[in-house]
Amino acid sequence: MDKISIVVCCYNEEESAPLFYEKISEVADTFQNSEFEIIFVNDGSKDKTLKIVKDLAAKDERVKYISFSRNFGKEAAMLAGLKESTGDYVAIMDADLQDPPELLTEMYELLQTKEYDCIATRRKTRKHEPIIRSMFSRMFYKIINKISKTEVVDGARDYRLMTRQMVDSILSVNEYNRFSKGIFCWVGFETKWLEYENIERVAGKTKWSFWGLFKYAMDGIIAYSTTPLVLSTLFGIIFCLFAFVMILVIIARTLMFGDPVSGWPSIICIMLLLGGLQLFCIGIIGQYIAKTYLEVKGRPIYIVKETNINKIEVKI
Ligand code: UDP
Ligand code: MG
Repeated sequence: MDKISIVVCCYNEEESAPLFYEKISEVADTFQNSEFEIIFVNDGSKDKTLKIVKDLAAKDERVKYISFSRNFGKEAAMLAGLKESTGDYVAIMDADLQDPPELLTEMYELLQTKEYDCIATRRKTRKHEPIIRSMFSRMFYKIINKISKTEVVDGARDYRLMTRQMVDSILSVNEYNRFSKGIFCWVGFETKWLEYENIERVAGKTKWSFWGLFKYAMDGIIAYSTTPLVLSTLFGIIFCLFAFVMILVIIARTLMFGDPVSGWPSIICIMLLLGGLQLFCIGIIGQYIAKTYLEVKGRPIYIVKETNINKIEVKI
């Protein structure tokens, strides 16, 4: 008998959580040789999610919950779930049923072949998604894969079933600025990708705003690539060379044709261009410094307010 842990991150999912529980229980019943553990991570929901999850835990002992003191974001919620999971296999799922629970059977069987350490999923299409959002998402994946050594798969979802060994490796990555899509690839291991059509969430609304996604994309790029820094250095070198050539040209021109006071609009344009470029590059550097600052502070990634998971402390 082995054990499968399901980590479910919930932020304002009062409508979806019970539906999710029903669906996952149905799937769990079809597994004969596996015990299940469903860990709901309540990421500071403002609705009745916590109460619903607590009720589920009261009637089903497979249900565990971890409730944060405020909203810490899905990355933190996933980390908390993975940390508390005790299964031989661990799956991460969304509460909104956009990750079809039926796929678990296939994932589990594939892992049994021992050929893979992780069975992950990706969306074939971005149906049901606003066009602008998919356009920017595609652009993000193109950019990050060009400038980073860690390959981030386009359309990859967080839904995946992993072996204990892989989960432990993910937990050993102690970063404050977590970008899980990158961490999953960075730790390596054999991953098989299953594809499926995008499904609409059963209830509630998506938690992502355009600005939120933009910041997430920036975090990903900064966490997995230092190319923007190289780029700003390159800009600097190119403009220095250009300025040097221009100085020579102007000296030669002045010596040959005298020094008429003209051309001030072009000077203003060049000044503005350079000023803008300098601010842009300082901004890039600032982003890295800010991330370093947050990392150095070493704050906890999340704070747990309530949980029904009792840690048995082994004292030596
Ligand atoms: N989520 C979370 N904390 C957050 C935002 C989202 O735990 O701050 C959870 C949310 O409850 C859901 C999952 O992450 O189970 C994915 O969120 P969502 O469905 O909004 O994202 P999408 O599927 O649209 O990418
Ligand atoms: Mg969703």
